[in-house]
Amino acid sequence: MRGTMETFLNLLPLKIVVIGGGAAGFFGAIASAQANPHAQVTLLEASRQPLAKVLISGGGRCNVTHACFDPDRLVQNYPRGAKALRGAFSRFQATDTVAWFAAQGVYLNKEADGRMFPVTNTSETIVECLIKTAAVAGVELRIGTPVISVKQLENGKFEIILKSGEIINCDRLLLATGSSLIGYKIARELGHQIEPPVPSLFTFNIADPKLRALAGVSVNPVQLRLSVGGKSPLQQTGPLLITHWGVSGPAVLKLSAWGARILHDNRYQGKLIINWLPDLQQEQVRQKLLAVKEEWAKKAIALHRGVDLPHRLWQYIIARVGITTEDRWAGLPHKILNQLLLELTQGEYLINGKGAFKEEFVTCGGVNLKEVDFKTMSSRLVPGLYFAGEILDIDGVTGGFNFQSAWTTAYLAGKAIATSD
Ligand SMILES: Cc1cc2nc3c(=O)[nH]c(=O)nc-3n(C[C@H](O)[C@H](O)[C@H](O)COP(=O)(O)OP(=O)(O)OC[C@H]3O[C@@H](n4cnc5c(N)ncnc54)[C@H](O)[C@@H]3O)c2cc1C
Repeated sequence: MRGTMETFLNLLPLKIVVIGGGAAGFFGAIASAQANPHAQVTLLEASRQPLAKVLISGGGRCNVTHACFDPDRLVQNYPRGAKALRGAFSRFQATDTVAWFAAQGVYLNKEADGRMFPVTNTSETIVECLIKTAAVAGVELRIGTPVISVKQLENGKFEIILKSGEIINCDRLLLATGSSLIGYKIARELGHQIEPPVPSLFTFNIADPKLRALAGVSVNPVQLRLSVGGKSPLQQTGPLLITHWGVSGPAVLKLSAWGARILHDNRYQGKLIINWLPDLQQEQVRQKLLAVKEEWAKKAIALHRGVDLPHRLWQYIIARVGITTEDRWAGLPHKILNQLLLELTQGEYLINGKGAFKEEFVTCGGVNLKEVDFKTMSSRLVPGLYFAGEILDIDGVTGGFNFQSAWTTAYLAGKAIATSD
């Protein structure tokens, strides 16, 4: 009789629950349902709008991934998680993402800077694709279903307690709750350590009204060095945009990602050193200034700049060293020329806070990566528990890298959760 019961239990479908109907939750649920069509896969989403972040991502266009198809180079875009992702990217990387979506009839377009968007240029294409593919794979989607707690029972199964009071049991559990605090709480209750969550990908506030008055001016490239709390400076080169509150643009956002934790710990106070002319050596800039001084001796410095910078920015920079609109090149003392040289190549700006970047935002911190096996995304502490997406202590710079880590970790988790013994 006992043998018959065991055989019967073995014949029951494997019950998999995925908590979190975001990019990682959908991708993981689809991968598990496709890998094991006999498994019963349920996706629980707290809100009534699944994939809400995908919908607003990339300014409504969804920057799905980045055209960086070499795992060694790909990992260099992750301030946190690079080491752990190296092996994972050898199993599922950006080329696989492109192929996966193409197999569902969704084609991605590469922009000049490497970012990849759906050819339709709308994130709705990605949302519709994920919802449809999940339904076809047999994933049961339950929206408006917040989970408040999870327990592991003595038999290894999980008991999931919903806010409604309903209890759901499952054999295996994939946690894909993004940066939600309740998700971190569930992981902690199951025994995992959470690296404290702090924001990443933000702009810098600079308390200089004269700089802010240049809002809209952009320079590409600039070289930025960020110095915070006496630590060795972080560096980035790329486009910079002056805004109504300070500076933004890819170089600033990347710097914010690498400096996310240290800036948080220093209450977003730091020093930003800007080289406005990184393509030239300092001595070359000096020679250019001396040449223009000689050639345009009788002309106003404000109107004859000699270096390739937007006119309004040049006027702002010369004003920083006390040059007025009337001053002529001929009368420029050597000392002021040297100060101008320094302003152009290592101008100092005080950061006094962070601003929002609407196109992409991510949280660094989350489940400690040492506690996760990145071959399968399974917990090293709790058998049957898996993780994917932003709940992990992984985050990338702007450009499609955050979704890429969600697709990768979710794909590996989904396959393993449905097929491993
Ligand atoms: C404005 C914005 C734009 C972005 N644009 C881009 C971009 O273009 N490219 C890019 O690579 N990255 C982008 N990102 C980052 C990217 O959106 C995230 O990295 C990605 O969404 C993480 O996916 P996830 O599934 O792990 O988490 P999420 O997308 O946050 O999904 C988690 C889901 O879990 C649900 N959930 C949480 N707790 C519970 C619970 N207790 N019970 C049930 N459900 C729960 C949430 O409601 C949510 O739907 C953007 C982020 C923002 C905010």
